[in-house]
Amino acid sequence: MLTQNSNIAFLRKNLIQWFEKNKRDFPWRDPNCSNYQLIISEVLLQRTRAETVASFYRHFFEKYKSWEELANATLEELEEVLKSLGLFRRRALRLFKIAREFQKRNGNLPKTSRQLEDSNLGALYLKNAFELFVLKKRSPLLDVNMDRILERYLNGKNSSKNRPDRNMQAMARKIVNVNECKELNWAFLDYAAKICLSNNPKCLDCRLSKNCKYFDLSGKINFSKTRALTTKL
Ligand code: SF4
Repeated sequence: MLTQNSNIAFLRKNLIQWFEKNKRDFPWRDPNCSNYQLIISEVLLQRTRAETVASFYRHFFEKYKSWEELANATLEELEEVLKSLGLFRRRALRLFKIAREFQKRNGNLPKTSRQLEDSNLGALYLKNAFELFVLKKRSPLLDVNMDRILERYLNGKNSSKNRPDRNMQAMARKIVNVNECKELNWAFLDYAAKICLSNNPKCLDCRLSKNCKYFDLSGKINFSKTRALTTKL
């Protein structure tokens, strides 16, 4: 039986290998993206399909090219611009607050995790994203997608929480504590979108199935393991 550490090592290695061949291409993954584009994209991505955000991306960033331009927008104007993306009231308010925080700091963004913690830059997920992309720290983008894979793979649970709990936060932080942290985070998101789907996960095509607790538990009833072990992507 695998120890937890070797189970995690297997997960990391396989996700990173899979990502190298199957990664999705999105504008916010361009290495030339500014910190502004990276952070605002994370707000746009919350609870929204990445493909939908990708088709909206240009429209938004042509209108608001910088923190300064965003800070000049009224809440009503942001709501109008975000209408076609959905969740527009909540998203507009979040962007409005982030822009106010930017102004309050005279344009200076937090430079340390401590300053980030004390800032009003939004919920934990967004602070983690800021830590990862701006402060270049090893931080998890733990959302429902990463939570779903981890709950299934580690705990055998077919459930995911809108707000992953403290234990899962700590586990996710441990898992992404590698040099390829950013790529591993993106690998989780892409794997959740293509293989470990919310409904009907493609366990028979999954390279993690060998060590996945959910597959082990439910496979006894639902899956043909023989096929699963011979047809990995
Ligand atoms: Fe997800 Fe199934 Fe793969 Fe487990 S075996 S990680 S549940 S797709």
